[in-house]
Order: sequence, then C-alpha cells, then structure tokens
Amino acid sequence: MSALTTFVQVALTRANEYSKCSPEQALTYACEEIVDNELGSRNFSSQHIEQWLQHVCSREDIDLPQIVVGRATRTSLASADIESNTICFRGKITTAATALHEVAHVIVGADSHGILFRDELVRLARAHISVDYAAFLHGVYEGVGLEMSPWPASAAQR
Ligand SMILES: [Zn+2]
Repeated sequence: MSALTTFVQVALTRANEYSKCSPEQALTYACEEIVDNELGSRNFSSQHIEQWLQHVCSREDIDLPQIVVGRATRTSLASADIESNTICFRGKITTAATALHEVAHVIVGADSHGILFRDELVRLARAHISVDYAAFLHGVYEGVGLEMSPWPASAAQR
C-alpha cells in the first residue's frame, strides 16, 4: 500500500466525522485537514496574516478582501463572505492553508466546495505554499474520489 493510499483511507474515515455537511464538503474538508496535519503550512499571527494576504492578492491580481479577526470558536477556523468581500479568521493564529481556503472561495465567488473550488485551492497552494503540498492535496482529493482537473492544470498563472 502506497503512502498516498494510507492518507486516502484516513481522509475517508475522517470525512464521516463531519456530520453537518454534504458528503462532498466533508471529503473536501477531511482531505485538507489530513494534508495540513502531514505537511503543515506556515502559521501567521493575526497581525501578519493581512500582510501575507496582501502579497498573495497582488500576485493573483485581485483586490485584498477586508480582513476581520474574531475570537476562536470550536466550529470554524475562518469564513469568507463573498458579497462583502470579507474574510473572517477565528483566533490568534491562522495557517497559510486556512487563509488560501478562504481566498479560493473569494476567487471562485462561491460558498460551495465543488470542483471549481478544489481546483482553485490546489492552484493557490501550488503558487503560495509549495508544489509538494499542492500535489499531495490534489492526490488525496482524487484518491477519495472527488472530481479534479488534471494536475498539470494547477500550474496555470493568473
Ligand atoms: Zn470553505
């Protein structure tokens, strides 16, 4: 059994624990969680996250969303409000992966976690975290049976 197969199994099991969302959303969350646990991504304090996102958004050629930092909750790390172009982070520390998840919602212009969202997140991870991180995320998404564009498509630049 390859390493990837093991992580796919873990993600499939983990997805069952997300009870309040659709199977597709649960799988999407579970894959992201498994990849971030395994590879990790940079931690930013609430003071520094806006600076980093400024850099990301200028490279992506999009307006910087309004950034709000709220108190930590157990149910949500962050959220994006498409209408008002606002991203809310919960708690003092935010990972690059969490931030890019919300940026992907903003770029795709949707709250949902379908193929457009996943393709965008993999593309952002490739550009702003690492190729290895993005390849692993793409592999786990595909491994659990979620529809994805082919891996080379994620190299597209804006
Ligand atoms: Zn989301």
